[in-house]
Order: sequence, then structure tokens, then C-alpha cells
Amino acid sequence: MSLRAMSMPCYLVEPFRPEAHLFRVSLTVPDPHPEGEVLSLPVWIPGSYMIREFARNIVEISAKHADRSVRLQKIDKTTWQTGKLRGAGSLVVKVLVYAWDLSVRCAHLDQSHGFFNGTQLFLQVRGREDGPHLVEIVRPQGDAFTDWKLATALKPESRRSIDRGGFGRRIADSYDELVDHPVEMGNFASVSFKAAGVPHEMIITGSSDFDAGRLQEDLARVCETQCALFGGGAPFSHYQFLTMAVGEGYGGLEHRASTALLCSRKDLPARGAVRRDEAYRVFLGLCSHEYFHAWNVKRIKPAAFKPYLLDRENYTRLLWVFEGFTSYYDDLALVRSGLISTEEYLGVMAKTVTAVERNPGRMRQSVSESSFDAWTKYYRQDENSPNAIVSYYQKGALIALGLDLTIRSRTENRKSLDDVMRYLWAHYGENSPGVAEEAMPAIILEATGVDVRREIARWVDGCEDVPVERLLRPFGVQLTRRAGNQQTRLGIRARKTGTVMRLTSVLDGGSAQAAGVSAGDELVAINGLRVDADNLEQLLSRHTDGQLVPVSVFRRDELLTFTVQIRPACQEDCELKLDPRSAVRITRMRSHWLGQKQK
Ligand code: ZN
Repeated sequence: MSLRAMSMPCYLVEPFRPEAHLFRVSLTVPDPHPEGEVLSLPVWIPGSYMIREFARNIVEISAKHADRSVRLQKIDKTTWQTGKLRGAGSLVVKVLVYAWDLSVRCAHLDQSHGFFNGTQLFLQVRGREDGPHLVEIVRPQGDAFTDWKLATALKPESRRSIDRGGFGRRIADSYDELVDHPVEMGNFASVSFKAAGVPHEMIITGSSDFDAGRLQEDLARVCETQCALFGGGAPFSHYQFLTMAVGEGYGGLEHRASTALLCSRKDLPARGAVRRDEAYRVFLGLCSHEYFHAWNVKRIKPAAFKPYLLDRENYTRLLWVFEGFTSYYDDLALVRSGLISTEEYLGVMAKTVTAVERNPGRMRQSVSESSFDAWTKYYRQDENSPNAIVSYYQKGALIALGLDLTIRSRTENRKSLDDVMRYLWAHYGENSPGVAEEAMPAIILEATGVDVRREIARWVDGCEDVPVERLLRPFGVQLTRRAGNQQTRLGIRARKTGTVMRLTSVLDGGSAQAAGVSAGDELVAINGLRVDADNLEQLLSRHTDGQLVPVSVFRRDELLTFTVQIRPACQEDCELKLDPRSAVRITRMRSHWLGQKQK
């Protein structure tokens, strides 16, 4: 251990008992305060806006000072305080952490691999957050683990401080940095490439059966496109995608020099496949999304996140910018990279329009409110969410599209949302106080000369739909709507659970709700005929608009029958198509927007 290490909090991480899913972490605090130290674990992880109470996974905690036991008093759900620490010697706190949550937000350990976020394992020493922190991560003991490797973007303490597998000592400049580098260990596959001259790597745990060459080539193109948008360089010296492939899964969490991803094995490109299929496209979109966050939210931040307060909710009305704009640019980067066609891109966007406009909740909650209430509403969705909330991801992406097309139309394509992103990067990147809550209209005006105060008042702070159809017309894109599925005729959302159909939601104002049908009911029969797991669409399609039919459900164990009027299907499925009669000027506008060369 170096001299510098002597004065900073040091963590020793042992994948202690993989079969019991336990990490052991020993925290050494040199020269503790004689009056005692206060230690706490974050209650949330930045990027996932929900209180998760990570301290609930601490199953044992104990402390020693100068080799003598010290009493730790727990003073709230996540905080411990030592008694007085008189005399020389370090404070050593040992915790056992249960790690059996296979998500990108938490920690997971078994005989096959280990993964953790620092927010799960590293107690924060109050008052020392701004100084350097050292961590030593050791290989699990036993012959079964001798070939394990470790991947993290946290920098080694020195060139010789880690072994060839990546285990050893690493250092962070602050607690905030320490917990912003997830760690994966095990026997993973990897692909490496350079983008903007900087080394990038994707680590894949759980699968080696994929087309590594294609993944490497496609990811490099996505990363190059994102770097080019922000002026060509990368804001890190290396970048890692830490991917866990499972049977069925999806998720991503952004970090400053890496991202943790969860995907299904079928999402990875199959060997020998000629085309990029839908599942792989969605995976590339996820990679693109988290990568864009390396700028937008990890460096350009709301002022409310500077700094992150890890013991409580951090409120901002700006997630429509930080998640919505990111959701817009994730798929846009795919079409700009040439990985998907214009037609495929329009198909993806049409799905977003449908997803937003089919939920009545968008008329009740604005995206600025949705951002603010992410902690209790977007992240805690229930059967009433379609009636009560709007997604700052999906509507945020449509707002980004709407602003982009508005700026392009008003400036004859001389300016765009790309200029807004570059302006944000230049003025609100690292070492700035962050984006103030009401600053976006002024920022967009400064960056492009276009005044969008009215649009923001209506689309962001109000509940108006983004007029996508009108805005896309000058770019030679036509929007049409078709009838949605048969369930829309009753105003229900139903899902198969085993052999039964259960109502996941009943939409406000729909005929099922008017008749008394409720979310959670098990659909048993329509017009006297049994509903099974697969025949709902067919049963409903046999009825005419306006017809009154008995609908039987089980509510808990009670059989109830309601008379429900069948209504016309909602025109909710949106389709976007290129107008074949577009003038040259219009196709040029479109090519400029989608970043494609003129044919
Ligand atoms: Zn995101």
C-alpha cells in the first residue's frame, strides 16, 4: 500500500462465499476522528430514480479501532455512527453484503460470476467524500476461480497494482467517482475496438455464441457517430460496456466511462445472419442510449444533480431532456450510422408515437411533472399508470423530435437539435453548475436563434401532443393511423398469465370501465363463450360496434358479469412512410436530418 493510500478510505472487496451470494467488504479509515465517524450506504443509484434502500442487503456489520471492537449504533435505515475513537490506529468496518439481484442497479454473486455497483458495497465515510478512495478487489478463493477475470473502468492505482486478470488495487478521486464504476468478474467474452481514437471494450457474461465481428463493427460505428455529434472527441480515456446475457432480460444503466447492460441472449447478433434482426437492433439502440448518456446526464447535468445527494430523492423537472433527448438520439444514431434504413427508423419512431398517444394519462401529467415525480410514479408503475402518467422517455423523445424538426424548418436546416447538444456540451459540460430547471428555452435560443418557448410551454409543461404529423410533412414523411387491436374496443389491456387472461389495466373513459370491469379481474367469458389464453382477439372481432355483450370475470373468487358495449376500435396504431412524391428540396431536408448522403 502506498503512502498516499495511508490517508484515504480503503476498501477490500472479497467475493467471500459465492454459493451464499455474499461479498465481504472491509473498510479501513486511517486516522479516524476522535469524536467518531458516521458511515452510510446510498439509498439510490444515479440514473435509476427510485429509493431502493441498499442497506437492507447488509447482513452483518462490525467495527474495530486499533484492533479493539467498537460499538456501531444504527441511527437510521442506512446510517451507522461509531462511539468515540480515542488513541492512534485505524477504524476497520467489516460488512457482509447479500448479492442476489440480477439487475444493472444492484449486485449479484454466484459460482459463475460476480457483479456489483459501488452503491451496494461501499460505505460512505461522511466528510471524506471529496477525497480519493482506494479499493482492492481480490479473486474468490478456490481452484474454480483461478481463471476469473475482472472488468471495470475504475483506474488502477498504478501500472503494477492489478494482475493480468484485472484483480488488484484501483483508485477513485472521490466517493462519487468510486460508485460510478460497476465491476464484473468471471469468465466473460469480450470484443474491443477504437472509436474517436479511444479504446472501447464490450464484456459479455452468459454467452459466447454470437457474431463478435459484427458486434465490434456495429458498436464502433454507433460510438463514432455519437462522438462526432459532440465534436469528434470522447470525454473519457477508455469505455466499457458490461453486458450480462440471460434467457430473458433487458436493462441498462449509464456511468461516466462504462455502462451496465442486461440483455437476452437472442439480442446478440447470430453467427452467419445476413441481416440485423429486430432484437439486435433494439440491443444496439440500448448500447447507443447508454453511451449518449456519457455526455447527456453524466457530464451535462441538471443543476439538481450537482452534486448527487445519495441519501434522498434528488428532484428535477428536466428528465425529459436527459432521458427524452437521449431516447431520441439513441435510434437516430443507428440510422445516421447506416445500421438501419430510413424506413426502419420511421417504423421505430411510429411505435413511439403509438406508445405515447394510446395512454390517456398523457392528458393528466406533463413531462416536467413526470420527471419530478419519477421517484413515486414512473418508477413505481401500477395498473392505473396508463391513466395517470406520461413517460418522459417516450414523450421526451417526441419532444426532441418536435424541437429538432421545428428548428430545422425555421432555419432551413442551418441549425438543429445537434447544435443544442453541442452548446450544452460546450457550456454545461464538466465543471459547470449544471442546467437550471427553467433554462432550456434560453439555451435553445442561444444555440440556434430559434424561440421555442411556446412549444415548451405546450408540450413540456402542458399536456399537448407533439404535432408529429404536421412537423414531419416538410421532411417528406406521412403519418397514417390504423385501428388498434380488439382490446381497444373495450378499453382494456389484458395479458396471459398461465392459462388465463388477466386485465392489467382498464382505461379511463372506456366501455369496460363504464360497465364496472376492473384492472386485476380475470376475464372468463364474453357473450357466454370461454376466454382462453389465445382467443380474445377472435372472440371480440365477431361483435359489431354498438353491440351490448355480457362479459364475465372473476374478481378475486367472485364471479361477476357486466354488460359492456362494444365500441369501434381506437385509431391508435401509427404508421410513418416516406412520401414518394417528395421534391428534391424535401429529400435534401430529410437526408440532412437523418445524416445520410444524397443518392
Ligand atoms: Zn437513459
